[in-house]
Amino acid sequence: MTATSPQENHAVADSGAQIDGFHLVIDALKLNGIDTIFGLPGIPITDLTRMAQGQGMRVISFRHEQHAGNAAAAAGFLTQKPGICLTVSAPGFLNGLTALANATTNCFPMILISGSSEREIVDLQQGDYEEMDQLAIAKPLCKAAFRVLHAEDIGVGIARAIRSALSGRPGGVYLDLPAKLFAQTMDAAKGAASLIKVVDPAPRQIPAADAVARALDLLKGAKRPLILLGKGAAYAQADADIRALVETSGIPYLPMSMAKGLLPDTHAQCASAARSYVLAESDVVLLIGARLNWLLSHGKGKTWGAPTGKQFIQIDISPTEMDSNVAIAAPLVGDIGSCVAALVAGMGSHWPKAPADWTGPVFSKRDANQAKMAETLAKNPSPMNFHSALSAVRAVVKAHPDAMLVNEGANTLDFTRSIVDMYQPRKRLDVGTWGIMGIGMGFAVAAAVVTGKPVIAIEGDSAFGFSGMEVETICRYHLPICVVVFNNNGVYRGTDVNASGGADVAPTVFVKGARYDKMMEAFGGVGVQATTPAQLQEAMEAAIASGQPTLINAVIDETAGTESGRITMLNPQTAKKT
Ligand code: ADP
Repeated sequence: MTATSPQENHAVADSGAQIDGFHLVIDALKLNGIDTIFGLPGIPITDLTRMAQGQGMRVISFRHEQHAGNAAAAAGFLTQKPGICLTVSAPGFLNGLTALANATTNCFPMILISGSSEREIVDLQQGDYEEMDQLAIAKPLCKAAFRVLHAEDIGVGIARAIRSALSGRPGGVYLDLPAKLFAQTMDAAKGAASLIKVVDPAPRQIPAADAVARALDLLKGAKRPLILLGKGAAYAQADADIRALVETSGIPYLPMSMAKGLLPDTHAQCASAARSYVLAESDVVLLIGARLNWLLSHGKGKTWGAPTGKQFIQIDISPTEMDSNVAIAAPLVGDIGSCVAALVAGMGSHWPKAPADWTGPVFSKRDANQAKMAETLAKNPSPMNFHSALSAVRAVVKAHPDAMLVNEGANTLDFTRSIVDMYQPRKRLDVGTWGIMGIGMGFAVAAAVVTGKPVIAIEGDSAFGFSGMEVETICRYHLPICVVVFNNNGVYRGTDVNASGGADVAPTVFVKGARYDKMMEAFGGVGVQATTPAQLQEAMEAAIASGQPTLINAVIDETAGTESGRITMLNPQTAKKT
């Protein structure tokens, strides 16, 4: 289908046939290569979901909009196309909004399309069904927000939403479609001509030559250089150039959690197991698609070995990211692919490798820490603890490097991130920039739908609770997802007591001995109770081999785990004491 711009619309002859708003929305999405909608039907978008499916789109219906939104965001991250989440008005829209804000925070491209009540009634606050000024509410929580009132503007509305989501720093976009729009009709030929196929929605941004030279100068003079890869680098899909940069320079690198696997965690230059050492001791740090936010202690303080006068080179598509926490000596603004390729080209073939008196100690520290960890992983306590259970998960992921791994929780997140090696790019999806709980089943569904690969979701029992009902969705669409719930009877641990001595259990404690596996069985999937690493590994292997939706209730020692995992210091009470 060739599209003409709306300006040319007047030149299109009437076809005699009519098209409605529903079909224009569907055609506009399809024209832009969008073939999947994650959502939840209801007034006024029920027919849109039916018609989209009828027109060959994949429509994945969830049980709660937040999980549909999270699925859309994850799909956006994995595909570089905006993931679409479709919600009903007011409450449905609000349920989707958390995911939209989270997508924006994480720089994932997604579009939340929501039906809404009629403008005339909403604006006069006359009390419509699910009345809410959704556009105004969405605006501060996303990158851009648009409303379409007329059928002939649907093409423009979708084009603007796509471009906003994908160009520059990716993010979440809100598109408000009032109920009346869907039933509006216009001439079919004019309608088709009004649609826009977005050309080059994420244009390359070539870095300036002097900025490249400045970055190379700084890197060349470094005595203890470090490369830090963030999820922006994973999103950019510049895998070969990033590998060339790392290997040509010989510089140790650290992947942030969702950049794990960009190069295999077993790569000779990976410094993950010497993280504290390299952050503190490095003198020049090259950040590639990673922000110096709380996850990196804002680039300062003890973590970074202050006061050492560390210097930063930062590659980012957003110019205002520079100096957001500390001075950036060499900002390199542009898309990661272009920036990294420019650095590699500038290095040529005679670039000196990172000094051996730096890399030597880094890699021996790493090897020593890995040997210590191997001893811990080899232990087989009863009941299982996080380490012994994760030694099973680690072996399964190693045997299936193309499987997707979704991970959320507190201790379950922290231990999985450090124990389970990743081998391929964009295989790990997790709680991201906010450290949010509740992404689990939404991300898992998207991972299965988008990649067609087996999905392993390693879930804390608390984290799983946020999206647990979506196991029905997983069963309904027969998705090859193996959920492992690390069940230690509570948030963080299952051992808290009620300080008042009253009858209620402590706020962090759940029902003891809960059988989450039965939830999957309730919908026709496979449920397994695992109390040893061997049982866990066997059940995971069986799930991957069969492709059956599976939930493994992995029974973990209820005394295992620490308050808030690795971020205990963010609790106000703990912070006061330190
Ligand atoms: P992490 O949490 O892994 O450290 P962040 O989400 O903090 O990663 O950082 C990702 C960064 O990557 C953001 O600042 C974003 O602007 C940037 N980014 C995303 N996509 C691109 C791209 N294609 N080119 C350049 N920078 C990008």
